[in-house]
Amino acid sequence: MRIGIIGTGVAGSLLAESLLPLPGFRVDAFERSALGEQAESGTGLNLGPNAAKALRLHLPARHAALRAASLAWRRWQVDLTDGTRLLDLDMLEVAEEPGIRIRWAELYRLLREPVAGCTRHGHALEAIEEDAAGRLVPVFRAGGALVRHGGYDLLVGGDGRYSRLRALTSGEPEGSLLGVGVWRLLVNDAADCPFNDYGQWFQGNARLLAFRVPGGAVYVAGTYPLTEQDARTRAYQAALFTPPSAAPCPAVAWMLAAIDRLFDDIHWARSATIPMLRNAAGGRALLLGDAAQAMVPTLGQGATQAVEDGVIAGAVLARGGDVGAARDERVAFVRAFSEEASDTLIPGVDPVAGTLAKNGPAFREKLRRLYTTVPGP
Ligand SMILES: Cc1cc2nc3c(=O)[nH]c(=O)nc-3n(C[C@H](O)[C@H](O)[C@H](O)COP(=O)(O)OP(=O)(O)OC[C@H]3O[C@@H](n4cnc5c(N)ncnc54)[C@H](O)[C@@H]3O)c2cc1C
Repeated sequence: MRIGIIGTGVAGSLLAESLLPLPGFRVDAFERSALGEQAESGTGLNLGPNAAKALRLHLPARHAALRAASLAWRRWQVDLTDGTRLLDLDMLEVAEEPGIRIRWAELYRLLREPVAGCTRHGHALEAIEEDAAGRLVPVFRAGGALVRHGGYDLLVGGDGRYSRLRALTSGEPEGSLLGVGVWRLLVNDAADCPFNDYGQWFQGNARLLAFRVPGGAVYVAGTYPLTEQDARTRAYQAALFTPPSAAPCPAVAWMLAAIDRLFDDIHWARSATIPMLRNAAGGRALLLGDAAQAMVPTLGQGATQAVEDGVIAGAVLARGGDVGAARDERVAFVRAFSEEASDTLIPGVDPVAGTLAKNGPAFREKLRRLYTTVPGP
């Protein structure tokens, strides 16, 4: 079976690695970015314990490589910006192993390394044609020219939120906005940072989220309700996260100083989802990761689900099964749970009561399902 994978981000790289050693498969991967260029580098992310479990069960070598290049995500604390504690969760109460804190550039490097031999870099999918046998023929822009590498029995879209494969086969998906702005920042040389593991700090419905990543750096992300006003100013962001009637706790004071100092390095985005879509072009195209299911980032499950998608799609394709049957119910649960957990970011919901409720058994049980219900090969 000839499989063409568009995009070697998270899902695409892992699918390629899973299929490469299997007899009966010929895998070609195509990546828009140049060799060695790690898109999205400069920031960090946390992968949930469920991504770690999926890798441990399906690709133990990749699990070991990521563990070696990351820090363990062991605790999840939620405070107000004045330091009042609302939640303190030991991740092993709801998971079988800790999550992963890693730099983006390092994650991409480690996932792309094992598939370098089957990847053509500098290839951006531009169009789709059909060969005489009815197979899809991807057309790439590479080095200024349009190039083709023949027809594929299956084309896989691992090309992210703005998937060209999805747009070409099914039209541009309509995004739904959550009404929330998100920014992220990597603070290098952060030896003076007063915290280590994963924390969140609320001020009304605005929230800071931060954790250390390897290399002496700290990842900081801000989330705030979108309004008519321009939020992309130092003064606006400082006001969002400065407690009105108390001193900020040391962690928030440190982040406020970092935001002020590194304001021009901030990456700005808006929290959005697209409708789920797994198969297209009459089953000749399969979508994975953000191309299939871009979701709100509240539980840090975007790349985490792309990990699950990549390795589980590999196991399912190896036995000739249906990837949608193996994945869609799980992904629907994760998307719904991520939106439910976003309640405290939306004006009108009390973030204190909303966070305290997450200490209760119902939320914990859902977290346990999220972090542990990962099928093996
Ligand atoms: C602010 C923010 C914070 C986030 N934090 C987290 C977090 O902490 N934890 C988490 O789990 N998730 C997080 N995410 C989500 C995460 O970034 C995505 O869900 C994840 O990267 C999706 O993986 P993917 O493999 O589907 O796509 P991607 O990782 O986006 O990879 C897509 C690949 O396709 C390539 N490509 C794109 N177009 C083409 C084309 N036309 N032709 C060829 N190649 C192409 C790209 O260059 C890229 O290599 C965050 C997202 C944002 C915006």
